[in-house]
Amino acid sequence: MPAQIHQFNCLSDNFGVLIHDPTTGATASIDAPEAEAVEAALRQTGWKLSDILVTHHHGDHTAGIPALKAKYQCRVVAPRAEAARINGVDETLGEGDVVKVGSLTGRTIETPGHTAGHIALVFDDSKVAFVGDTLFSIGCGRVIEGTPEQMWASLRKLRALPDDMRFYCGHEYTQANVKFALTIEPDNPALLARAKEVDALRADGRPTLPATIGAEKAANCFLRADLPTVAAAVGMSGKPAAEVFAEIRARKNRF
Ligand SMILES: [Zn+2]
Repeated sequence: MPAQIHQFNCLSDNFGVLIHDPTTGATASIDAPEAEAVEAALRQTGWKLSDILVTHHHGDHTAGIPALKAKYQCRVVAPRAEAARINGVDETLGEGDVVKVGSLTGRTIETPGHTAGHIALVFDDSKVAFVGDTLFSIGCGRVIEGTPEQMWASLRKLRALPDDMRFYCGHEYTQANVKFALTIEPDNPALLARAKEVDALRADGRPTLPATIGAEKAANCFLRADLPTVAAAVGMSGKPAAEVFAEIRARKNRF
């Protein structure tokens, strides 16, 4: 049976996400921004926490781990390259490694850039990916520990996932991301449509995630840095895509 997913808000603008295996009852929290919000989500769903799957070491993705592990004795699985910076890690993951949540099978994609050891987790059978702070809807994470070249390579890995795959990310930043993206591609019809959709969702107090990889490819300028039209929009026609990406990311930092 495919995974059941429960997304909820925590901290100021973080998403929490639970993935549940209806066959075995296993439930993983994707990251653990804060223990209380994860516990409230567990109460609401009636699911029992068996695992925490960590995308990267930042505190707003890991602060809840010690309290949750103490209470549920759950397994903590984290990026191999960042395990030393995360509390209570039981198992580590690197490129291509498989992680099971009950009978659900996920695989690991290393996506360095935001942090040096950041990973994304892809559950192909359920057509769902958890991308942490690498890809946001109509945006991407800040390049903090890696280089723009690394981040661009990581985003291309995520872009290569199937169009109908849904992705969940770490933050509700979409509305602000749309405002910026419209400065790069003001006439992109997919972006204009997403802008309307996002405004309607937010006016209703509803989340803008998950989104699909296919929709994102059409509207997210950070996934489109290798298009001649996008290079031209930032005055970099003919330049390597990684440099175009770096310019767009730099403009977003100043926006
Ligand atoms: Zn982060």
